[in-house]
Amino acid sequence: MAKISKQREESLKRADELKRTIDDYLNIRKSIPKGLDLENEYQKNKNHILKVLDANEENWNDYKWQLKNRVSDIETLNRMINLTEKEIDSIRKVGEQYRWSISPYYVSLMDKYDKYDAIRMLSIPSSIELIDELGDSDPMGEEFTNPAGTITRRYPDRLIINVTNECAMYCRHCQRRRNIGQTDNHTNTQLIQESIDYVKENEEIRDVLITGGDPLTLSNDRLEWIIKSLYEIEHVEYIRIGTRTPVTMPQRITDEFVNMLKKYHPIYINTHFNHPKEVTRESKEACEKLANAGVPLGNQAVLLNGINNDKYIMRLLNQELLKIRVRPYYIFHAKHVKGTTHFNTSVDDGIEIMEYLRGYTSGMAIPTYIINAPKGHGKTPILPEYLISRGKDYILIRTWEGKTYKYENHQTIDIKEVY
Ligand SMILES: *Cc1c(COP(=O)(O)O)cnc(C)c1O
Ligand code: SF4
Repeated sequence: MAKISKQREESLKRADELKRTIDDYLNIRKSIPKGLDLENEYQKNKNHILKVLDANEENWNDYKWQLKNRVSDIETLNRMINLTEKEIDSIRKVGEQYRWSISPYYVSLMDKYDKYDAIRMLSIPSSIELIDELGDSDPMGEEFTNPAGTITRRYPDRLIINVTNECAMYCRHCQRRRNIGQTDNHTNTQLIQESIDYVKENEEIRDVLITGGDPLTLSNDRLEWIIKSLYEIEHVEYIRIGTRTPVTMPQRITDEFVNMLKKYHPIYINTHFNHPKEVTRESKEACEKLANAGVPLGNQAVLLNGINNDKYIMRLLNQELLKIRVRPYYIFHAKHVKGTTHFNTSVDDGIEIMEYLRGYTSGMAIPTYIINAPKGHGKTPILPEYLISRGKDYILIRTWEGKTYKYENHQTIDIKEVY
């Protein structure tokens, strides 16, 4: 037998040590439900839902049908999944105060029997929403950052235009719950025109985000008018769209829609997956369509108690996203919004998640963990500590595995003096 070199021996030992740092994850991963593995079950649910709604496959694939047939009455939902008496009672009570509505597609991802199923918790009203007296209705102070039209401006070079308050599904954790009324209101043309004019008049605005509600509840023509108007402004360098439809109603991503977007590049889309169960064949097809049309995709998850405040679930979610060509962008710490505070977590939950991403998985799979400063004073990144200490000419760092190293800190020289 050939003698193994000392270097090779060391490398093998290290490789084994590395593998052992994710043994726990590799074991637990198998027990976390993943949308891409649940295809058969989702298919069965879909067939059942189609029967309840007396519809066919063609209807299912038509987003207008999905939008029109959003489930928002207890009887229909009860025929699709098994609601308990308690749930029926809570939905009835919550429904009087807060809106609820779920696309048939999103219903098909639900576990019929498990009331702690992430999809159910994210979409079915619960009576805890009503006993919640803690949250604010406007923790972001949006009313004080609205210089014109339906703009929200909190940063020097970019801003948001809210184009609707309608969504394909009303998420129980929605951080904009205040804006989600009882009825769907697309922002009127005059307010959108005012917003576009504000962008035109302020040359430092180089990045415009179209958001809502969900902008993709608007028709392609309406969206094209907004996008084209912004595209024609010389100082607008690119446009971003925030939409949850790849998650809640992937049928919305049609060829017609992506062909329209292609005319106005660069366009970026950020979406909002919170759980690996949401990464399905259909959402994969939607995301691939967008990526193939040259639209880079990012994900903005919200850290939610009972859904994804777990280092393994979050690691898996981010890895699943990369498989469908979505790059994790942000994890938002959930704000204290009235009616949603049961979903709030401590900041420690978020820091622990970040601790067990860096090093343990690809940098590609690591979003930035963000706390929104009070009163809309800006997104603030939160990280575990990696810089332990510093002296005159060194710093002390600690690695992802928790090893500490002294690192020489050479001062920056004047490049022109030595060049
Ligand atoms: C989040 C946000 C943006 C975009 O922030 P990025 O960090 O650039 O993604 C822009 N404007 C407002 C008002 C926002 O809340
Ligand atoms: S899609 Fe977005 S805006 Fe609409 S309810 Fe869900 S979180 Fe709120």
